[in-house]
Amino acid sequence: MISVEEALEKVLGYVDVLEAEEAPVLEALGQVLAKDIVSDIDIPPLDNAAMDGYAIKADDARGASEQSPRFLRVIDTVSAGTISQREVTPGAAIRIMTGAPVPGGADSVIRFEDTDEAQRRSPDKDEIGILCEVKPGLNIRRAGEDIARGTVVLRKGTVLRPAEIGVLASLGMSTVKVIRRPVVAILATGNELVDIDRPLPAGKIYNSNTYSVAALVRRYGGIPRILGIALDSEDSLLAKLRQGLDADMLITSGGVSAGDYDMVKDVLASEGEITFWTVRMKPGKPLAFGTLKGMDREGSPRRIPHLGFPGNPVSSMVTFELFARPAMLKMMGKKNLTKPMVEAVLEEPVANTDGRRVYVRAIVTRRDGQYYASPTGPQGSGILTSMSLANGLVIVPEDTAGAKAGEKVKVLLLGWDDEDTI
Ligand code: AMP
Ligand code: MG
Repeated sequence: MISVEEALEKVLGYVDVLEAEEAPVLEALGQVLAKDIVSDIDIPPLDNAAMDGYAIKADDARGASEQSPRFLRVIDTVSAGTISQREVTPGAAIRIMTGAPVPGGADSVIRFEDTDEAQRRSPDKDEIGILCEVKPGLNIRRAGEDIARGTVVLRKGTVLRPAEIGVLASLGMSTVKVIRRPVVAILATGNELVDIDRPLPAGKIYNSNTYSVAALVRRYGGIPRILGIALDSEDSLLAKLRQGLDADMLITSGGVSAGDYDMVKDVLASEGEITFWTVRMKPGKPLAFGTLKGMDREGSPRRIPHLGFPGNPVSSMVTFELFARPAMLKMMGKKNLTKPMVEAVLEEPVANTDGRRVYVRAIVTRRDGQYYASPTGPQGSGILTSMSLANGLVIVPEDTAGAKAGEKVKVLLLGWDDEDTI
């Protein structure tokens, strides 16, 4: 049985970074930039006012105070989005709103609060009293101070977060070149499974894996393609699998154990190649991985990575986090493939009975600068609500008999507050 690390290395060895595509800028959230972004404009494009006030010459305010205001002629008003045709000459001022381009001749903007505007009646509005001295450049945002024309604003390889989406929009870019999202085909297997929009006959269960896995695919930025349910027969499996062979990755759940109807491995062996089966972990031991003969977007032959997850709902989710997620992220051109890991104090003992690496669903909290991890209760790999309660997985190493309460353990964080988003 291979270790989790060996298994991950093999999976990653079979996946490559996907091609770039032009995507609408908002759709590209969470995707990786495929080329440097160079600005062909200055942002802001012109010197403009940082405050509502008056554009003046700083010289004209010399000696001004509340007791002895300097009076200037108001020759124009300019609001954001318009350009004044007038020039600020000595003794003149132009009323200006935040964001409006600074008129020619002015070297500073004095805010309303530092003028006598509030005390004035409308007949006096052709004149304004300046109540303090100003330094040249006051309240002026310089052209290009955010982004100067010709500079690289964002580097190839950058993951686009909301701030980067905003920066691209500020450059007037409605589309952007990014590494495309992987299409992940998802197939559930099992004679006992029923689609979630059907009544539940006796002896059957609803197919939940398809939906937890599809949700994970979407959460990490991929495009799930749901293939439905295959029966536990080679014919049914093959027919369904064939519908997913143009995807970038194929995930099946169920049918990889040692039971009579577990034929996913056999089909993988006959239609492709098995790279490994069984990993030294719990849950998730019967994980199978290999490649199937598929085709690329142009219809040319290629091998498509296939992860055969164990059917137990928790096993499917844990193996997704450990293997499918890094594979997807690599395809998307991301460099950081691991979830955050923290050290936490274990609040209840956990056992390790058979030398595998155990992933214990846990509730992780942070109190007084220290992380604590408390197991969610019964850890059966069929108890999906244990995943729902958990925000982390405590890692119990394979070569130990478990961990005691109070011991420090490593915990993989599945989600932490608003980092839950893609
Ligand atoms: P298997 O790996 O096929 O032996 O399945 C292990 C357990 O997981 C069995 O109890 C199955 O009924 C259950 N199971 C398999 N596939 C699914 C699924 N898609 N949704 C919910 N439970 C499943
Ligand atoms: Mg089964």
